[in-house]
Amino acid sequence: MNRSVYFCNHCKKALLDVEELLFVEESSARSFCSEDCIEKYYQPIVSWYENLERETRVELKVADEDCRSLISDPNLMDKALTKPDEIWRYENEIGEDHFIFIKTFSPERPFHVVIMCHLFERQPSFILLATATRSPKLLDKFRGGEKITNPDEFIARDDLPAGAIDLELEQESLNAIEAKKSAFLARLLQDRIAADIPFEQFDLYEKYFKTTLEDPDEIYADEDDEGDQIFNYIKAYQQNGVSFYYFIICVELEKEDDGQAQTRKIIPLIAFPTLDGELYKIYKSGTLVSGNLKN
Ligand SMILES: [Zn+2]
Repeated sequence: MNRSVYFCNHCKKALLDVEELLFVEESSARSFCSEDCIEKYYQPIVSWYENLERETRVELKVADEDCRSLISDPNLMDKALTKPDEIWRYENEIGEDHFIFIKTFSPERPFHVVIMCHLFERQPSFILLATATRSPKLLDKFRGGEKITNPDEFIARDDLPAGAIDLELEQESLNAIEAKKSAFLARLLQDRIAADIPFEQFDLYEKYFKTTLEDPDEIYADEDDEGDQIFNYIKAYQQNGVSFYYFIICVELEKEDDGQAQTRKIIPLIAFPTLDGELYKIYKSGTLVSGNLKN
């Protein structure tokens, strides 16, 4: 009963993997199962804001402005979202927020584009309302809450702690690791002989994983086809009078932090035992690395 489960905020579908959740709002844990559910959830909210804009325009006597149709221009919307003149963050009393992006375009008759949206990791994730106006009074109605002092910096996200926007990068690395695992496994299947230790028995040898990684007889360094550094950890053992090798194939991933500190991580891709001296020769390819890598 204690397993983690997440329910789509719209359709209430149960999701067991946090990776499957889609988020829209920075300051809320509200999550969804699909783009479709996001659309459906926010539709009544979008209508509510559209209605508020209609009423406000009537009140200010700017109900019909010709510039409103300009917001159907994706190029203009893109400029307003990526290079706004002003950003406002409005937060209500229970901590929910939305953002207002304002950009002034100055052709013969200048107009302002106003976009009310949610941000996730400082990227626009859902547009609640978009309009264009020449009325300073209407524009003023959208301003409120906290004014972001430097919109360019805010959007550039350089000040965010690495962990906050690293999620996508890490997901990329995870995908790359999965792809490498599959490639090595496919190669192993080709290189293995039928008489070797069967796959079904590999788990009986898992107890040798730790000692191989911590105290290998040999480590060979090599590059894979993608130019990544591969390390083969090898250690010889005896079990019930039979000699075998235990192999752990690892990839080294480098992560640069602002070009200064580099974090190197060695991640095991596959581990397997073998009785086959020929296989041993195949996998001890590359350069023999001295013991300083052991730890
Ligand atoms: Zn859903």
